[in-house]
Amino acid sequence: MKKFFLSTCFIWLICAVAAHPLLAQSGSGKQQGNPYLFNDSHFHLTNYIQEGITVNDLLELMGDKIHRSTLFGIPLQQQWSYRVTEEFAPQYYLDSDAPLYYYSFTDAYIAMQYLSLNETDRARFDPMITGFNPTDMYAAAHIRRVLETFPGVFSGIGEFSIHKEFVSSKISGDVASLTDPALDSIFAFCAEVGLQIILHNDVDDPFPKANTPNYTTELINLFKRHPDASVIWAHCGLGRIVSPPSEYTKFLESLLADPELQHVNFDISWDEVAKYVVHDESSLTNSADLFNKYPDRFLFGTDNVAPATQEKHLHVYELYEPLWAVLTPENSYKIRLGNYERLFDAAAAKVRAWEKENVGKPKKAPAHTPASGIRKH
Ligand SMILES: [Zn+2]
Repeated sequence: MKKFFLSTCFIWLICAVAAHPLLAQSGSGKQQGNPYLFNDSHFHLTNYIQEGITVNDLLELMGDKIHRSTLFGIPLQQQWSYRVTEEFAPQYYLDSDAPLYYYSFTDAYIAMQYLSLNETDRARFDPMITGFNPTDMYAAAHIRRVLETFPGVFSGIGEFSIHKEFVSSKISGDVASLTDPALDSIFAFCAEVGLQIILHNDVDDPFPKANTPNYTTELINLFKRHPDASVIWAHCGLGRIVSPPSEYTKFLESLLADPELQHVNFDISWDEVAKYVVHDESSLTNSADLFNKYPDRFLFGTDNVAPATQEKHLHVYELYEPLWAVLTPENSYKIRLGNYERLFDAAAAKVRAWEKENVGKPKKAPAHTPASGIRKH
């Protein structure tokens, strides 16, 4: 698949952030009658040890700058193994060789945070389910159980990861895979319910060798197997070390133009992604051209994890100011605000309708479980 990423070293981004006249005002943020700068399609309330800020803290940080926000924790807990780090309490997955494990209580925590708000404030959040193990055929049953326990709360699932640099290999139990039938059952359930999916899957390995396989084909096949699922591919497949392969905008354009992938959208969250986009004039131009050509398919998000101040919370948005300045006002609006509203409003409406039909009612046994009676032995 390296064929996609031909010669020219692509490099997305900028560095000339400095003084763009439009930027100081974030002028494009005022388009279309919405006074807010953005909706946050990618936000973590808690971190890898399940600590963070409260939803009330977040409301303060959002203030009059951020209208709406997704709300999720992190589905993985970094174990504090005394045998490994003794008195040192790791707070991040790179702080220790001890494993990560799936922490399902995050879903109850997020739901209770959301439910602590009044009706007006709730309207600004889209909580997401993350506390499932994507290698487990019972994962979809967990997602269903969360909907049944907390009806009226969740809009989707994620951010959850299949291949993520330095993380996937640290998780206790089976290694996640894009070809796992458990993942198909999750996507199928989300399509049935209308849950928005936010999937993190690096496009390649951290230090890829030329002409070796990466995850592109498996990922595209997964998306194509589930045309009725609404998907956001987090960070456009990039990471801290996973940099854009050559000709990456051309590769993304091939996905955007594919009629079988119209249900797949892309978030440009994370300061690590912003750094590629605004790296230089060429990366900025290539990126802006792509976003201007497919303005309905990209969403801004921060990917912040429990930020302490509003200044920190707005940092990723500000990194992108060179981009906001070169997008048309209409397209900037879509990426910062409009696409979020369209996708998450549609998801929430479908999930509420599914809950009305299904919560508290007898349910059919999920396929491929002992209860379904189709065990092979
Ligand atoms: Zn994230």
